[in-house]
Amino acid sequence: MTIRPQYGHFINAKFVVPYNGQYIDSINPDDGSIVTKIAAGTAEDVDKAVAAAKAAGPSWADMRPLERGKIISHIGRLLEERIEAFANAESAEMGVPSMGAFATMVTASNYFQYYGGLAASLQGEHIPVGPEQHSYTVHEPYGVVGVITPWNAPLNQACRGMAPALSVGNTVVLKPSEYTSATALMFAELAVDAGLPEGVLNVVTGAGAEAGEALVKHEDIAKIAFTGSVRAGREIGKIAAEKIMPVTLELGGKSPDIIFDDADLEAAVPGAVFAFLANSGQICLAGTRILVQRSIVDKFAEMMASAASKMPVGKDKPFPSLGPIANAMQFTKVLEYFKVAEKEGAKLVTGGKQATGEGLENGFYIEPTVYVDVSNDMRIAREEIFGPVGVIIPFDTEEEAIAIANDTNYGLAAGLWTRDVSRAHRVAGKLQAGQIYVNYYLESGVEHPLGGYKQSGIGHEKGVMALKQYTQTKNIIIKI
Ligand code: NAD
Repeated sequence: MTIRPQYGHFINAKFVVPYNGQYIDSINPDDGSIVTKIAAGTAEDVDKAVAAAKAAGPSWADMRPLERGKIISHIGRLLEERIEAFANAESAEMGVPSMGAFATMVTASNYFQYYGGLAASLQGEHIPVGPEQHSYTVHEPYGVVGVITPWNAPLNQACRGMAPALSVGNTVVLKPSEYTSATALMFAELAVDAGLPEGVLNVVTGAGAEAGEALVKHEDIAKIAFTGSVRAGREIGKIAAEKIMPVTLELGGKSPDIIFDDADLEAAVPGAVFAFLANSGQICLAGTRILVQRSIVDKFAEMMASAASKMPVGKDKPFPSLGPIANAMQFTKVLEYFKVAEKEGAKLVTGGKQATGEGLENGFYIEPTVYVDVSNDMRIAREEIFGPVGVIIPFDTEEEAIAIANDTNYGLAAGLWTRDVSRAHRVAGKLQAGQIYVNYYLESGVEHPLGGYKQSGIGHEKGVMALKQYTQTKNIIIKI
């Protein structure tokens, strides 16, 4: 299975020519070459895909969950078998170095294996109300779920939404990012090879304002699972409010990573570097606000800058290396933030510009960047940059660290490093974020529930919790 030179939409288990005949180039951010062409979807294409998903719905929902789960798990195993082709495609389209691409494909496969196993686990309850009534609950699928995903970990994000949605009996129309749609289209084909009935999973590609919005507005879409920016999440939320439609929103972050002066710096320095540089900083959970206790801030900044500057830049450099920023728009945005930082008076200790050198000439490469003398009210400390940029903010006391950490509109994740177990529990309990890491940073295990506090989102993905996000609960009361 390799990437095709051109893709139509995937509807009813077939590739379909787009209604308007238009295609979008998908560009390799490492060298500017065209990886493939994807269909530029419109409302007409969305209509077709939703109709296919709707028609496939009843028999998929009625299938015994154990049997449905076997198909879902098999999809995950087949992805594992074909992992190389998928990792190569994702690496070409998104720019992630191949080790990173392999890791995210493993996670994508795990979502299907995990939720396949859980398909028969969702049970209703008996509600005790005395001998004259029999009251119980059942969890039913919504029907057709729209899954809309970003470009930073394309197949991983798509599988995170699709696997639980399908496992509880929904059918799906996926709209991947217009920058990175290839692996989603390859995956839809693989799912059919694994035995998924036609129409159960459909993929419509194209721009957010066109295909994405049409999907959200479609009257037969009963729920949206969205991963992406706060801006788009807000627009989707407005449409959902009009339709009275449930949404899961997994949005951005500006997550704090707190380094106390009793931390094991041998672990904290590489851990904090990984937290903001993994995937070239293009991770919603990235620990980009590094709060360091004042007594160690100079030493820590020096160690961190030294470790970050040694990170090889280049997609094909030895692991771990930094790949390019995934697209031109994002590349320009990160470079703009370097001007903002300078204007705001932050002190650059390493990086701060486009990376150059052999093999980087035509790619969207940026140097690993660390700023000090940053205060939490600067834009570079408040806005999600989504690039390899960490800002170091000093603090004096535990209370101050918590106050600075929580002084943000976001609340996706937070990290803290300390040898004091009481402090670890105390601080973790006070941080306003949906996922907290103690003495490490970044978790890709599919079992951990993830949901943003504040503007980082609504609802949960991952873990057992996600299953109920894709069902509605009915209470049935029988008079005896
Ligand atoms: P984006 O919001 O621009 O796009 C995400 C998806 O939404 C794309 O498929 C896009 O086509 C679509 N879209 C855009 N506008 C739309 C609209 N009005 N209606 C319907 N669909 C629309 O985000 P991006 O730039 O692709 O991704 C980066 C963002 O994603 C960052 O903010 C990052 O933090 C966030 N993210 C969050 C998580 C999480 O789990 N919380 C994970 C990964 C990325």
